[in-house]
Amino acid sequence: MEIITGIILIGGVLGLIAIPLLTKVDEDYILEQKLSLEEGDKYHQLLYKKENILTAIKDIEFDYETGKLSEDDYKKTRGDFEHMAIEVVKEIEQFTKKAKEVKKNKQQKRKKSFCPSCGEKLSQAYKFCPACGKSI
Ligand SMILES: [Zn+2]
Repeated sequence: MEIITGIILIGGVLGLIAIPLLTKVDEDYILEQKLSLEEGDKYHQLLYKKENILTAIKDIEFDYETGKLSEDDYKKTRGDFEHMAIEVVKEIEQFTKKAKEVKKNKQQKRKKSFCPSCGEKLSQAYKFCPACGKSI
């Protein structure tokens, strides 16, 4: 009985952790699909770096609150990390922007490859559909 309760507890805890992680990873994964393998790696590294910096900032705040860090040290160290965080976020935004552009371009290409009127498959970006003559 105790074992079963334990399993249910562990399962419940894992479920709680896994849900936000999965939704976040899913979004990252979609973005990564729009990047090259190398860019995807870099993007992942940036996300990891951002997490580390945010954790470090939290640690500094904790150290300051518990009196382990002087106010001067706290302000200086926190400032350094905040600067790093801004840089990383900027880089991440560039990747996000690029991935969104790639996604948009792909959607536009897909739109062009079929006639919106008759559904004829178009081998290139025609101005008029060769099958029904509708402007595209
Ligand atoms: Zn057509």
